[in-house]
Amino acid sequence: MTFVPVNEPLLTDAERSNLNACIDQGWLSSEGPFVARFEAAVAEQAGRRHGIAVSSGSGALEVAVAALELGPGDEVIVPSMTIISSLAPIVRAGATPVLVDVRADTWNMDVGQVAERVTPRTRAVMVVHLYGLPVDMEPILAIAERHGLAVIEDAAEMHGQDYRGRPCGGFGDLSVFSFYANKHVTTGEGGMLLTDDDGLAERCRSLRNLCFDNVRRFVHDELGWNFRMTNMQAAVGLAQMERLRGIVERKREIGRFYTERLRTVDGLILPLERTGYAENIYWVYGLVLDDSVDFEASTAMSRLQAANVGTRPFFWPMHEQPVFRRARLFEGETYPVTERLARRGFYVPSGLALTDEQQLAVCDAVAGMMA
Ligand SMILES: *Cc1c(COP(=O)(O)O)cnc(C)c1O
Repeated sequence: MTFVPVNEPLLTDAERSNLNACIDQGWLSSEGPFVARFEAAVAEQAGRRHGIAVSSGSGALEVAVAALELGPGDEVIVPSMTIISSLAPIVRAGATPVLVDVRADTWNMDVGQVAERVTPRTRAVMVVHLYGLPVDMEPILAIAERHGLAVIEDAAEMHGQDYRGRPCGGFGDLSVFSFYANKHVTTGEGGMLLTDDDGLAERCRSLRNLCFDNVRRFVHDELGWNFRMTNMQAAVGLAQMERLRGIVERKREIGRFYTERLRTVDGLILPLERTGYAENIYWVYGLVLDDSVDFEASTAMSRLQAANVGTRPFFWPMHEQPVFRRARLFEGETYPVTERLARRGFYVPSGLALTDEQQLAVCDAVAGMMA
């Protein structure tokens, strides 16, 4: 078996045809017609009034934090296990990230810890849905309501996922998607902000486009970014939005295939298939080594690499990041579940181009590596 990459996207004639239209019509930049169509399609799927396309999910989070005017003196509650893109905009804005641990079963933010971390300075909660299951939103929304907190929903990994029958990307003040190549809707690089608030939408549009003035174009009242998405990226994304249901079904099929075959392998904790509020969408298929295993994820991943299987580790804890340690953030804090998952968890190939033959080879390699 040749090497099985951890993610390979699946592109079709629909993307090709949309890209040809960009070339035929001569529209490459963000001014082209696919951008507005893609924004409308993503917003509609998530049940939102506004979609604002940007150049990455990380950029979308920068815009979200700026749009909500979070800054010095403000605290933002965020999970300790997440991508750096969650914390970077908070820290750059001069606000203070306040961490909560994740749960050992769902690998998602421990909602029970959020209330304990609210102080008079808390301004927002940034929710990050990880790996395939959404965060339990209802308790978060209730806490936010009670304390007047803004909610940012990072749905980067949740295209087409639901929470209690309502689409992810539809919760809180601002939601964010990523369309990076490993996301199951991809534009290569790309992201989007979603909101129901007309004022916030206006701010996001301005912030992604350098805050040009509507009347005196090159006069700036505020600093923004050029985070615009190209027409070509939107063309590719739109083609995938049109087959989103099929994409979600295929991701779930890949997940079930792994679960059926890996259930009998000793030492592995598999992803939860469902919770009371959602069915796993398996953005990635994570594996966690249980207590009986005397090696860590790094060893498992090098063994799998030797068996021609690509993997990635789980996210590294935010409180253990050198960049934050140097800034004396999170001193003396521990988040035991995150620390353990970071050392014992990794994920195996689950891209949409994965074949059954490749999946069987991955299962064999995993079983062999554990034996
Ligand atoms: C991928 C991802 C991002 C960042 O998106 P980019 O488009 O790669 O910048 C943010 N949050 C989460 C949870 C992600 O998985």
